[in-house]
Amino acid sequence: MSGLVLAQDVVAGENVPPFANTAVDGFAVHASDVAVVPVDLRVIGTLAAGDGTQWNVGAGEALRIMTGAPMPDGADAVVMVEDCGQPNAGTVTVNRSVVVGTAVRPIGDDVRAGEVVFSAGTLLGAAGAGVLSSINAREVLAYPRAKVALLSTGDELITDGSRLERGQIRESNLTMLEILISGAQCDVTNLGVIADDEALLERTLLHAASTHDAIVTSGGVSMGDFDVVKAVLSRIADMQWMQMAIKPAKPFAFGLLGGSGRSVPVFGLPGNPVSSMISFELLARPALRKMMGHTQDLLRPTIPAITDAPLRRKPDGKMHIMRVFGRFESDGRLHVRDTGPQGSHQLAATAAANGLALVPDGTGVDAGDRVDVLWLA
Ligand code: AMP
Ligand code: MG
Repeated sequence: MSGLVLAQDVVAGENVPPFANTAVDGFAVHASDVAVVPVDLRVIGTLAAGDGTQWNVGAGEALRIMTGAPMPDGADAVVMVEDCGQPNAGTVTVNRSVVVGTAVRPIGDDVRAGEVVFSAGTLLGAAGAGVLSSINAREVLAYPRAKVALLSTGDELITDGSRLERGQIRESNLTMLEILISGAQCDVTNLGVIADDEALLERTLLHAASTHDAIVTSGGVSMGDFDVVKAVLSRIADMQWMQMAIKPAKPFAFGLLGGSGRSVPVFGLPGNPVSSMISFELLARPALRKMMGHTQDLLRPTIPAITDAPLRRKPDGKMHIMRVFGRFESDGRLHVRDTGPQGSHQLAATAAANGLALVPDGTGVDAGDRVDVLWLA
């Protein structure tokens, strides 16, 4: 459930903790008995966590009590065992005064029965899941993970490990996108490489649209003669074909595919591996998150960073998205440098990056200057 967004308020049905209990191993006492120390108190018994025996601590008495055990009647504070002597002949010496309430965890001081513990729209994390367990909320309503179908196109792509013939390359986007899609908390079906065959692609897309909540395609959305994704989707879906003023990841397609009242979003990513990764990050991931109930933080955070080395580029009217590695230095700022060759096919340098520097049109950013970085880490 971690990573899901709640679709409904969660009202606590129980107090947490469900009873007043001790925060330490020690002795439950009357605080007034230990106002002047050292003082000897009579030890009337021992109470472990999980032991429901009801004890009553009278004046001049102490109950040996373990962290999490219920507070006995009468006692109003707990003295840590470290502040007491070794019990001897039914007596313990208390060496430190405590006030009423010391080391006592009151009933409901974490979660109060009847309160809205999480409101609709809350992103559940690990601690949130723990809180739901603590209040015995065994079922809550959350936005489901989007079921995403993923496919790649390109007759040049080899996936089966066979020897490359001239003109062939190894497919490298599917595993990468599968990881990015599941990292966005979606369930992903990897349909593999679909040959550049319009009829096959059409059948595959229509089936994916009837069985999934979204479709991500890689390749075939630009201006080439064999851009079959473009040919097929133009015919069967309501698409927008975009040329974005960014580099890499200029071509991008978005549209709706379906019919009979249900249509699913299609994200047409370019095939160049770096472009594929960047357009997923910038355009598909925020939309998928929105589908799953996220309202904030749709995009990765943008952090103003310092470049430790120049980020050079040529003016071309586009925003360049450079792969950088950054770390927070002792000055409290994020310092970045590029991770190597920045071509849209050069995925190796992207593998070393934990950020995307947004370098505006111009000649680049000098060492020591500021640049905004989309933080992927
Ligand atoms: P396309 O977007 O189909 O025009 O492809 C652009 C470039 O990316 C071409 O050089 C393709 O060979 C390459 N390419 C497309 N899809 C993939 C993929 N899944 N893995 C690796 N390279 C790809
Ligand atoms: Mg292609």
